[in-house]
Amino acid sequence: MEHSPAPKILLRTDFHRLLQALRKFGYRVIGPVLSQGSIQWKDIHAVEDLPVGWKDHQEPGHYRLEPDPSPRYFNVVHGPESLKPLTFVSRETLLILDRKNHIFSAKEIQPASQPTAVIGVRACDLASLTIQDHIFLKGSYADPYYQQRREQLFLVTVNCTRALPTCFCASMNTGPKAQDGYDLSLTEADEDFLIEAGSRAGLKILGQLPCTAASPERMTQEEERVATCASGQTRSLPHTTLPDSLYEAHDHPRWDQVATRCLSCTNCTMVCPTCFCHSVEETPSLDAQHAEHARVWDSCFTSDHGYIHGKNFRPTTKDRYRMWLTHKLASWMDQFGMSGCVGCGRCITWCPVGIDLTEEVRALCQPPQ
Ligand code: SF4
Ligand code: SF4
Repeated sequence: MEHSPAPKILLRTDFHRLLQALRKFGYRVIGPVLSQGSIQWKDIHAVEDLPVGWKDHQEPGHYRLEPDPSPRYFNVVHGPESLKPLTFVSRETLLILDRKNHIFSAKEIQPASQPTAVIGVRACDLASLTIQDHIFLKGSYADPYYQQRREQLFLVTVNCTRALPTCFCASMNTGPKAQDGYDLSLTEADEDFLIEAGSRAGLKILGQLPCTAASPERMTQEEERVATCASGQTRSLPHTTLPDSLYEAHDHPRWDQVATRCLSCTNCTMVCPTCFCHSVEETPSLDAQHAEHARVWDSCFTSDHGYIHGKNFRPTTKDRYRMWLTHKLASWMDQFGMSGCVGCGRCITWCPVGIDLTEEVRALCQPPQ
């Protein structure tokens, strides 16, 4: 990735020029927008669309937006959506089947996408996109639906200077500062932004903005704010020892305990930015002349997921929670050479009963009581 010669300063009063420059270069611009008590990726037409005046409070099983006197645009860290729905959509029609005069025809549906700039991407989201790239693009078969959307993305990351109680990206080496994978990087202060390009496309946009040089003192100051955010994180995972310790915990009684709390609701897998399980559904018309063949998100917490040839090999919630956690944090490393967790904390926040995977791992790594 190519970087600009040095980070620059963009005044808050000039931030709208970034939106203008992105539109001038043909991008649809989306960013975090308040929606139904949380934030979602939606079109940004003006800076007022960003969630200024709000911040998020997240705890296990708890998400609330709270008023915030700060003038910052990006004090809400994240909502349930990662970048996943922008590249791997929750329901995608792949084929339309038609029958005419007893002959079947199949029409392949191409994904509709356009160049899209996403403003407000977090370091953990960039890290999860790298994992999903590996899964969808780097194998023997590149998924064309994912690929088309992925190639159209222009990513504007915002380095985190405020950690949530559920964040543990520092222990996963995925944040709170974005290392690569972005086109533009922002670090927000009250009056201005430190801005840096991470790609040729980012440099082009940066060249359109009325920036000034950032002093070495200012760069050090921003590095310190990000470092404070990292050191303030209270949760962590010992990811380097995990493959062995989780495999060894296969028969640990803790799995029975967590299974009494887990509802097998699938929330954790829906919000997880790296989970990629999917199924296909056929929806025939009532006159049996047409059918839609669609790919839909699936979850290892459903009973159908473990059903094969007349037998369910994961019939209990204990089986499913153990499968999810062991795959995510252990066998994912054997399969893909990396952890399946980036430490975003979404599965902790959006679990309706507040199950915290960092707490479960800590218990599973202890000898049974
Ligand atoms: S397992 Fe949980 S913390 Fe890890 S990436 Fe998925 S949602 Fe985020
Ligand atoms: S761990 Fe929580 S979010 Fe995941 S399936 Fe169980 S109850 Fe639902």
